Amino acid sequence: MLEIKSEEKVREGSIYGQITSLGHEQLVMCYDEPTGLKTIIAIHNTVLGPALGGTRMWNYASEEEAITDVLRLSRGMTFKAAISGLNIGGGKAVLIGDPKLKNEAYLRRFGRFINSLGGRYITAEDVNMKTSDMEYIAMETKYVTGLPEVRGGGGDPSPVTAYGTYLGMKAAAKKAFGSDNLSGKKIAVQGIGQVGKYLVGYLVKENAQVFITDIFEDRLKQVSKETGATVVDPNAIYDIDMDIYAPCALGATVNDQTIDRLKCKVIAGGANNQLQDEAVHGKLLLEKGIIYAPDFLINAGGLINVYAEYLGGYNRENTYKHAEKIYDICTAILEKSEKENIPSQQAAIEMAWNRIESIGKVKLPY
Ligand code: NAD
Repeated sequence: MLEIKSEEKVREGSIYGQITSLGHEQLVMCYDEPTGLKTIIAIHNTVLGPALGGTRMWNYASEEEAITDVLRLSRGMTFKAAISGLNIGGGKAVLIGDPKLKNEAYLRRFGRFINSLGGRYITAEDVNMKTSDMEYIAMETKYVTGLPEVRGGGGDPSPVTAYGTYLGMKAAAKKAFGSDNLSGKKIAVQGIGQVGKYLVGYLVKENAQVFITDIFEDRLKQVSKETGATVVDPNAIYDIDMDIYAPCALGATVNDQTIDRLKCKVIAGGANNQLQDEAVHGKLLLEKGIIYAPDFLINAGGLINVYAEYLGGYNRENTYKHAEKIYDICTAILEKSEKENIPSQQAAIEMAWNRIESIGKVKLPY
């Protein structure tokens, strides 16, 4: 069985130590002098299929930070794909530098590096990457998804991510409150970017009492005007009287500092890696009786969207139908968590890992 190690333990190792403790297959570092491209591609697990996961561009403070990020994110993709029933593995790429570095040559060079992996890694968008960037990458490799709809792609995955997050939130609400009806529930959405704003739309439609926060004031004003949601200061969001906390901005917001401040009964949001340390904070939430909808499951709509594109013949309606399975999977995870008295994140990882192990065995005999 897969051991969930604390962040502290993972980080104290060498690069090989980290790869070994997180279970990666491959870590590739690439450099191109003319374009200034520095990229790290992590392939976590390819038992179910090629590693599919987005590329994040970020001005990392250090190489160590970039490596930690790509290792953590790619591992999350393995579990996300496995728990969602997709036949792909987990991978991720990071581009190190200011997003302003991006241009056609830079992105095409990146495409060539991806191509050199022969299909073991397939990319898509993540932070600071757009569908138009994927078009440049596609000039050099076929191992790219997240292309615009006019090019036969699935377009922006965020609406599907938000839909899955909304359904996962409803499943968690059913467990916590006995009903999945969100009408009247006080819900705090942290970050109203691509995912958050669509999520707010679903919540308002269901007559939830929605509170929003973001570091962009103009965005807050706009979404508040359009939806009637109440604006809260970014630092005050953890302290408000709420039933559900929906992190939709950064990761690691559920940590030693915030857990005691959160008065909610449910945490369900679209952000990746919400638990600062899944070995520690999942347990704390269980002890506090807060129902946690595992992030990598309920935000899997975006991956489901690019997976549909990867299979070919993208169809938006079918993709939304596929994302609807998140409700039942979330329910099953929360039931396992309750029955075995284990954190829901652990329950989800165990379910994902069981699928990888059992399908791996199916593939053995030819
Ligand atoms: P985004 O950049 O469009 O939105 C993030 C929002 O969070 C921005 O409006 C930003 O201003 C705000 N923000 C940043 N720091 C904040 C803070 N301290 N307090 C409050 N708000 C803050 O990104 P997105 O595409 O909406 O993704 C949001 C999260 O969901 C990320 O963690 C991402 O990895 C995850 N995710 C996104 C998708 C997708 O389809 N877009 C899929 C899976 C997971």
